[in-house]
Amino acid sequence: MPDRVAFVTGGSRGIGRAIALTLCRAGFRIVVASPEVDKNEEVASEIRAASGEAMTLNLDLTSPDSIKSGVNQALQDYGRIDVLVNNAGITKDALAMRMKLEDWNLVLQINLTGAFLCIQQVLPAMLRERWGRIVNIASVVGRAGNPGQANYVASKAGIIGLTKTIAQEVGSRSITCNAVAPGFIETDMTARLPQEVKDRMLGQIVLKRFGRPEDVANAVRFLASEEAAYITGQCIDVNGGMYM
Ligand code: NAD
Repeated sequence: MPDRVAFVTGGSRGIGRAIALTLCRAGFRIVVASPEVDKNEEVASEIRAASGEAMTLNLDLTSPDSIKSGVNQALQDYGRIDVLVNNAGITKDALAMRMKLEDWNLVLQINLTGAFLCIQQVLPAMLRERWGRIVNIASVVGRAGNPGQANYVASKAGIIGLTKTIAQEVGSRSITCNAVAPGFIETDMTARLPQEVKDRMLGQIVLKRFGRPEDVANAVRFLASEEAAYITGQCIDVNGGMYM
């Protein structure tokens, strides 16, 4: 499938960057989509240096117009979107009693509504092809809960429900929709956590190390492949055994 196209939200760094590079090595043309224009370009350059093909998009998931025009641009330039990876996500942590409504709304808007709108925009192209792979990045906390992250946890639990529903709606057209739920992965998102929180987390990880972005990207690559054709509506945990 050499000309297949993968659209990766939040492809500019961390897990999204690793997904973009891994899918490029698997033969996909990559759309690197995030609001970080310069970082998008850096990832695209890395892909081209590895003899892959990439385009960049200034995508802001808080804006339905940005999502619509971004997907249209990718379809115009590449003619198709075969794989959508809803990877972009943010945190705005606080205990529920003190959480600001604007922080609740922003996290839900980017992590959940943004993913939903991306799915809505790419589905017509996938339905035409009668082939598609949607992979949504959830989180271990979407399964287990986590104090101080009511907004983030709700968004990630929502992603898992969304995944199962989309899988049921489009399965008859050979489009699969799955989620990957990472545990603690070393990226900018986790770098800012206090050392004592990191130590506590490490104590819960059966494999005794934090995850790498590539650990998540490898699961995404499998779910995006032909080999995963009979897997849909699932949430695969990539968490070193920290939650079973
Ligand atoms: P990161 O903070 O390194 O990267 C976040 C990405 O989201 C960036 O590319 C950023 O540009 C993009 N983004 C932020 N706001 C956006 C917006 N408005 N529109 C479009 N894109 C936007 O985070 P990461 O650790 O690489 O996380 C990637 C995904 O994995 C997220 O969904 C996160 O919730 C999930 N996750 C991460 C961990 C972890 O331990 N790092 C664990 C579980 C789940």
